[in-house]
Amino acid sequence: MADLHSAIQSRLQAAGRVLIVSHIRPDGDAIGSMLALGLALQNSGKQVQMALSDGVPSSLKHLPGSEQIRKKSEGEFDLVVTVDCSDLKRTGSALDGRKPDIVIDHHATTDAFGTLNLVEPESVATASILTRCLPGWGFPLTAPIAANLLTGLITDTLGFRTSNVTPEVLRQAANLLALGADMSALYYRALVRRTFPGAKYWGAGLTNLALADGIVWAALTRADRKAAGYTGNDDADLINIVSSIDDAEVAIMFVEQNKTKTKISWRGLKPHVDVASIAVQFGGGGHKAAAGAEINGSLSEVQERVLAATRKTLQEK
Ligand code: 5GP
Ligand code: MN
Repeated sequence: MADLHSAIQSRLQAAGRVLIVSHIRPDGDAIGSMLALGLALQNSGKQVQMALSDGVPSSLKHLPGSEQIRKKSEGEFDLVVTVDCSDLKRTGSALDGRKPDIVIDHHATTDAFGTLNLVEPESVATASILTRCLPGWGFPLTAPIAANLLTGLITDTLGFRTSNVTPEVLRQAANLLALGADMSALYYRALVRRTFPGAKYWGAGLTNLALADGIVWAALTRADRKAAGYTGNDDADLINIVSSIDDAEVAIMFVEQNKTKTKISWRGLKPHVDVASIAVQFGGGGHKAAAGAEINGSLSEVQERVLAATRKTLQEK
């Protein structure tokens, strides 16, 4: 491990032009981690390009440095880093065929797809790994970096309420506050505030909410998005509401992408349930308590297959 850290440190210190990439449908940890690393490298005089296939969602545009993020990488780089990505497919088109030198991630299902792979499934967020490691690698934390890192911690722990939150995570958050991150404002923007179309879209999903065999689920169609005026292709975090419902062991959201593609989110609601193992069966991945996949097939076909596989997993327990 010490060898891995010193190898990462020397690659980062030696590089002049660095590309940083994260995953499609980026969340607060993807963007917060990318910006924290990017700003830290820029503060050391490096040229940094940051690319996200889907760009920055409007809910995260307040993060310092987010205006620098582009959709495609362009030019030559000495070093390519991915953050918060569990496999190459998750980077979308942002790498444009380049091979990652360094992978920094915290997913349980991560392939070692980089040359140097710093993967810590026990960390609550990729931002937690960076909060700990950046200063040790020679990149000091500043207030804008702290705001990005704190956002990653807040979003991946749903506001410090997931079961993997440790005293160390709260100490990290306290340090980021001391560096100038505005916890109240960042928390509110990342987890509480939503748009009117987003709330209308939730309403469409909640009308078809169902519960059977320990599974609670809801589906969102492209027509729902259009009717609500919601511009994202995600569930607008409705999964967080569906997974708050008692009497279920697993919560699932089905989000129609097009006629032949459906996005799934699973949440394990009891400690004995491992939803990453179900997501992997469908080519996806994630964590024991939160996983996802994008599956080929229409919404109704995929819904049937996913419910059957989830039911089977629960029955085997
Ligand atoms: P969400 O359901 O919020 O999209 O994702 C839950 C967790 O599963 C996150 O940690 C996310 O990175 C991971 N995840 C979501 N979709 C996919 C996917 O298609 N492939 C993989 N490997 N992981 C995914
Ligand atoms: Mn993450």
